[in-house]
Amino acid sequence: MNTPVKQHLIDPEICIRCYTCEMTCPIEAITHDDMNVVVDADKCNFCMDCIPVCPTGSIDEWRVVNTPYSLEEQFSWSELPPQEDLGPGEAETGMEALDEAMAALLAEAHSGAGGKAVAPKSAAKPAINLYTLGKPAVAKVQGNYRLTDDPEHDVRHIILDLGGLPFPVLEGQSVGVIPPGEDENGQPHLPRLYSVSSPRDGERANYNNISLTVKREPGGLCSNYICDLEKGAELHLTGPFGATFLLPDDAEARLLMICTGTGSAPMRAFTMRRQRAVGGKSGGMLMFFGARNPESLPYFGPLKKVPETLLRQELVYSRVDGEPKEYVQDRMMAREEAVAEMLTDPATHIYICGLKGMEEGVEHALTNIAESIGQPWASLRDVMRSEGRYHVETY
Ligand code: NAP
Repeated sequence: MNTPVKQHLIDPEICIRCYTCEMTCPIEAITHDDMNVVVDADKCNFCMDCIPVCPTGSIDEWRVVNTPYSLEEQFSWSELPPQEDLGPGEAETGMEALDEAMAALLAEAHSGAGGKAVAPKSAAKPAINLYTLGKPAVAKVQGNYRLTDDPEHDVRHIILDLGGLPFPVLEGQSVGVIPPGEDENGQPHLPRLYSVSSPRDGERANYNNISLTVKREPGGLCSNYICDLEKGAELHLTGPFGATFLLPDDAEARLLMICTGTGSAPMRAFTMRRQRAVGGKSGGMLMFFGARNPESLPYFGPLKKVPETLLRQELVYSRVDGEPKEYVQDRMMAREEAVAEMLTDPATHIYICGLKGMEEGVEHALTNIAESIGQPWASLRDVMRSEGRYHVETY
């Protein structure tokens, strides 16, 4: 009989196909096909380098198995298989394979904002992975509008028409854009991920279109491709992806949204959904939104028209002449009472989206604010995460 072994797996339902784990793995144990990103059990040495870089926690899945799942089996999954029943004795032996060093590494990865994400209880069930590398959706550019006045900071609002193709997408989900051409190895480029910034019923209500918020990155292959697209051009999409960074359908839920730059894309989708669907009945939203200056803050103009009763806005700037540099975490501290009050409310959901670097500062602010009301933040965060009320998506 085989000795049970611990196998590292990726949850295909939650994975957003950003391929960061595959690019991070030092021994090329992670690979993908048109459908899934998977871990090769023959190669994985449990180094854990892939765990903290995953923006969704989908990478953090483990099963104790008598025979490891093959790559082919994993490629065919649309959801993870349950833990096999190995019998008490064998399962214990297998669990011992999770030695103390690995447990410590996992604890380390989970001590930050990462960890396995859970969808809000009332969220609608998302469709995922309908379009793949092998069978992408072809969308047509309906509009490409510049959102920022800062010449050094070109952020675009891209509207894509899906025509007659079914493309159900919920607020908070992402799509992949496949840049044309091949990489240096003659392989087609991998899709780049963008959060959808429009609500589920379309950028224009009841039209089958979506919007993306894309910043031109110097030398960026995909961002320059998208930002240069003209009206009528076609592009290839994969997805939709993401099954946890979703809006609660419960109108009474309160949202605490913290974002930087183009990380505002899902917050725009949440706000538009609530404007259209719940209006005055909304439990309320408080948004801390950081940008270099008003000229580089995407959607600055339209945001001004959103009523305070629906969305309280704290716009925070880091590079305004004559003003001290301010980050979202600084403003959260300055609004400590409002944030603390939300932390005590079980109806509150937290969303953090944007630069990877902001996580540490935001965690620090939340730790201080939670402490001021006698709550250890790490425990509160873990409860919120397990209840589907704490969500992070940073790159
Ligand atoms: P950005 O303009 O470079 O930065 C936005 C603001 O964040 C600036 O004020 C910046 O300040 C500040 N900032 C820098 N470091 C920070 C830190 N450690 N803590 C708090 N604030 C900090 O932003 P961006 O270029 O738009 O980038 C946004 C990020 O969001 C990208 O990495 C993108 O991949 C990610 N994202 C995008 C989407 C999407 O759909 N487009 C979705 C999810 C995530 P200074 O630079 O002045 O110091």
